Amino acid sequence: MSDSSTKYIFVTGGVTSSLGKGIVAASLAKILQARGYSVTIQKLDPYINVDPGTLNPYEHGECFVTDDGAETDLDLGHYERFLNVPTSQANNVTTGRIYQYVINKEREGAYLGKTVQVIPHITDEIKRRIQLLGNTGKYDIVITEIGGTVGDIESLPYIEAVRQLKWEPEIDCIVVHLTLVPFLAASGELKTKPTQHSVKALLESGVQPDVLVLRTEHDLTEDVKRKVALFCNIEPRAVIQAQDAETIYDVPLLMQEEELDKVVLDKLSLPYREEPTLEGWKDFLKNLKNPKDEVNIGLVGKYIELKDSYKSIAEAFIHSGVKNNLQVNLHWIHSEDVTEELADNLLEHLDGILVAPGFGERGIEGKITTIKYARENNIPFLGICLGMQCAVIEFARNVLKYDDAHSTEMYPDTPYPVIYLMEDQRGITSKGGTMRLGSYHCELQENSKAYQAYGKKDIFERHRHRYEFNNKYLKEFEQEGMIATGKNPEKDLVEIVEIPKHPWFVGVQFHPEYKSTVLNPHPLFVDFIKASYENKKR
Ligand code: GLN
Repeated sequence: MSDSSTKYIFVTGGVTSSLGKGIVAASLAKILQARGYSVTIQKLDPYINVDPGTLNPYEHGECFVTDDGAETDLDLGHYERFLNVPTSQANNVTTGRIYQYVINKEREGAYLGKTVQVIPHITDEIKRRIQLLGNTGKYDIVITEIGGTVGDIESLPYIEAVRQLKWEPEIDCIVVHLTLVPFLAASGELKTKPTQHSVKALLESGVQPDVLVLRTEHDLTEDVKRKVALFCNIEPRAVIQAQDAETIYDVPLLMQEEELDKVVLDKLSLPYREEPTLEGWKDFLKNLKNPKDEVNIGLVGKYIELKDSYKSIAEAFIHSGVKNNLQVNLHWIHSEDVTEELADNLLEHLDGILVAPGFGERGIEGKITTIKYARENNIPFLGICLGMQCAVIEFARNVLKYDDAHSTEMYPDTPYPVIYLMEDQRGITSKGGTMRLGSYHCELQENSKAYQAYGKKDIFERHRHRYEFNNKYLKEFEQEGMIATGKNPEKDLVEIVEIPKHPWFVGVQFHPEYKSTVLNPHPLFVDFIKASYENKKR
C-alpha cells in the first residue's frame, strides 16, 4: 500500500540522451526543498546489469557509492551534491535488479503457477520499487528519473509502469518530460519538431506529460513556447526553458526563474509554502564565479578519456575551490603517460597532485612514479583508494628499499605484499556487490593532517575496495616516516597514511569525494586545495 500523502514526479527524457535529466531532476528537487518540502530522487536504469558496480567506467562513468553500500549511477552523486541529503540502495534500481527479484520469486513458487510476464509482474515490481521511498513516510515528494530516452525498447516497461500509476486513484503523480530544441545555424531557427515527436512517442505509450522542459542553446521566444504547448497538449506556463548554463549549479536558479517549482506544486495541488531564498547556494555561485586566484591540480588516472569516470572528484574540487576562494584548474593526466623521464614535464607545473582510485594493472607504474615525484618534490598529494595503495607501494619500494613491493591485486606473488587481500575477501569469487562497500568508522590520530582537516576524531567515510594495507609492515613504515593516522578500530584496518615530514601528503583508503556537497565541501579536499595554494605561493 502506498502512503497517499507522498507525491510522485517522474522525469522522462526525449530526442536524445545526455540532455542532463539528472541535473534537471536534482535542480527541481533543490527548489522544492528550498520551499520546505522533503524531497528525494530515485533513478531507474533500463540496463540489465544488477547495478553499475561491475561496469567499466568507460561505459557509464563513475560508480557512485552510498552510505549503505549501494553501487549506483553517478546521477545519485548529483542528487546528494544538490540536496545535501544522503541517498540509499532504494534510490537506484536497474532492470537487472527488477528481473532478478521477479525470477527469484518465480523460483520460490511465489506466483503459484501463473505465467510470469512483463505486464503485470515486471511492471508491478517497478511500481513497488518506485513507492518504496514514498512508503518510508520520510518524503513529501519522490522524484523518479527514468534513464534512457522515450522510445527505447528497454524503457518501455518503465513508461508502462508510469502510465499505470497515473491511473491509480490513490497515487498523486505528474510527468516532467525533458527534450531538446535544436538550433539550426543555416536557417537561424529553433526547431520544435523533435519535441513534438518525442511527446508523440510518450503519448503512444499512453502517457501525457504535464510539464515540458526544453533544453536550448538560445532563448526561446513566447511564440516557440506557445507552439510547443499547442502541439503537445501542455498548458503554456508548463513549458519551461532550460537554456545552457555556465555551470550545472546555475540550473536550480534558472529553473526557479522559470517558475518550474510553482508549476509543479500547482499540478500536485501542494501549497507554495515559504519563498525560497537559496542563500547559501547563491553565495556559493557568487564565489564560484569570482575566485580571488587559481590553483593547478593534476588528476592522475587511467580513465581520463571519459571525464565522467571521476565525476565526484571533479565536483569535490569545485566545492573545495569555492571554499578557498580559488578556481581549481584540473589537469587531467593519463597515468600511462607518466614515466621517470617524463615526470618533470608532466607534473612540474602542478601545485597539487591527486592520484585517483582504480582497479587492475594498467597505469599502475605511472601512478607510482607520480607519487614518488610528489613525495620528493614536496608537492601536496592526495591519494584516494588505489591512489593511497600506490603511495604505500611507492614508499615501500623507494624508502624501505623493497624493490618488488606491490599489491597482490597486481602481483599475487610479490615477496613484499604491502597491500593485500582483506581477510573477509578471501574465497569470494563473485564480482557483483562483494567489495567492502559503504560507510565505515575511522578513528583519527590527533596530531595529523587528517585531524586538522576534519576537526574531530571520529569520522565515517564510504569505501569500495577489496585490498588493504598489510599491518605486518606497519612498524617499518612508521619508523621510516609514513604513519597510519586513521584506522578502523573495529577491524584494525589502516584507513589513512600520511608523511608528517612532507608539507601535505595524505592517502585515504576511502572515497571522500562521494560526500562532498555544495553546502558541505569535503574537509580533506578543502585542506588539500589550501595546501596546494600555499605550495603555489612558495
Ligand atoms: N583496486 C583496489 C582495491 O580493490 C582499489 C579500489 C579503488 O580504488 N576503489 O582494493
